Amino acid sequence: MSHRRPLSGNDVFKALRTEHTIVMAVNVRMTRGITRGIMRSAKDNDAPVIFEIARSESDLSGGYTGMTPKDYYDEVVKAAHEADHDIFVVHADHISIKKGDAEDLDGTKKLIAAQIEAGFTSYAIDASHLFDFKGRDLREELKDNIRCTSEIAHFIKDRMGNRTYGLEVEVGEIGKTDATGRVLTRPEEAVAFLSALSDNGVHPDLLAIANGSAHGNTFDDQGKIIPQVSIDIPQTKAVARAIKEAGFPVAIAQHGITGTPRETINLHFPKGDILKGNVGTHWQNIFYDVIKVYEPDLYDEMWKWTLSTYGPKNPGKPEEMVFGKNCKNAFKPFKGRMAKLGKDTELAMEAMAYAESNLYLKAFSAQGAASKVRSYMESR
Ligand SMILES: [Zn+2]
Repeated sequence: MSHRRPLSGNDVFKALRTEHTIVMAVNVRMTRGITRGIMRSAKDNDAPVIFEIARSESDLSGGYTGMTPKDYYDEVVKAAHEADHDIFVVHADHISIKKGDAEDLDGTKKLIAAQIEAGFTSYAIDASHLFDFKGRDLREELKDNIRCTSEIAHFIKDRMGNRTYGLEVEVGEIGKTDATGRVLTRPEEAVAFLSALSDNGVHPDLLAIANGSAHGNTFDDQGKIIPQVSIDIPQTKAVARAIKEAGFPVAIAQHGITGTPRETINLHFPKGDILKGNVGTHWQNIFYDVIKVYEPDLYDEMWKWTLSTYGPKNPGKPEEMVFGKNCKNAFKPFKGRMAKLGKDTELAMEAMAYAESNLYLKAFSAQGAASKVRSYMESR
C-alpha cells in the first residue's frame, strides 16, 4: 500500500472533459465509516471521486461539523490509503463570499490559505449571493460577483505557485426562489460571467449554476422527505451549449443532487455537460438512519437537541422537517460522541455508503473513468 495524495482537480476535469460522465463529489461530515465506504466503492468501480467540504461545514473554527480543513483532509487521505485508491480530489466546496467587503475577503483568504496548507487540490469560489438587481445590464448585475471571484481566484493562483488545481465558480444562487418559483441561471448570464472572468485572467474548469435544485432534503407539507424532481434539464443543456459556443472549456457543476432519483440521473442527465455532481445530504441521511437503529440513545439526544434548539425558531412546522433541515448542526455539539461510535455502527454505515455510492457511480457513468484519468496523466 503506497501513501496516497489527492490529484489536482484540474487534471481530473481536463482528462474527462469530453467524456460522457459525471464525477461524484461528496460532502461527508465527521463520519469515518461513510468516508471509507465511498472510497472503497470508488476503488472497486474504478471511478474518480471528489471529497469536498463547504465553508459553512468546515472553517478555521470548525464550522458546523467541528472539522478544520486539516481534519477533513487527513480523514480523506487516510481512507484513500486504506482503500488503496489513487484517483481522488480534495475540494473546498462553497467558499462563500456574502458581503464582498474588505473584511469578508480578508477572512476568505485566511480560510483558503489554511485549505492550501492542508493540501486541498480544488476550490469553489461562491460569490453568487452578490447580485445587483438595479444593474442596467448583465455585467453590472454581476459586477460584485465578478470582482470578488477574480480577486480570490488570483489569490489562490499566487498561493498555489506552480501547482495546478481545480477551480469552480458560481453564478446564480442555488435554490433561490422568487414569486414565480426557483430562479434559474440564463445562458447569457453564464456566458457574460465567464467572459468577464476571462478578461480578468480567470479560467475556471467548472461553473455552478442555479438550475432548479436546492441543497438538502426535499419535504412535503407534512414534513416527509420526498424525491426532488425540480432540476431543469433543458435549461441546463441550453447553458452548457451557450458556454461551448462562446468557446469556454468549462463544464457545469451540479449542486444539490440528494433526492433526485438515480434512474432520472442515469437516463436523463446530460453527462459530460454536467461534469461534477455534488451529493451531500444523502450521506448525512445514512448516518441518521444507521444510528436510529444502532445507537438509539445517541439518536434520541441529537433529535432532542435539534428540536429544542430550532423548534422555537420554526413555529408550526412539522418536527420531522425541523429535524431534517437542522440536524446537520448537531454534528459539532456531538463531535465527541461521534468519534466513539460502535464498531458495528461504523461497519453498517460503511456498507450502506458503499452500496449507495455504487448506485450513484453507475448512474453517473463513472465506472472506468479513473483509468481514463490515469492514461491522460501518463500521456501528458
Ligand atoms: Zn452546493
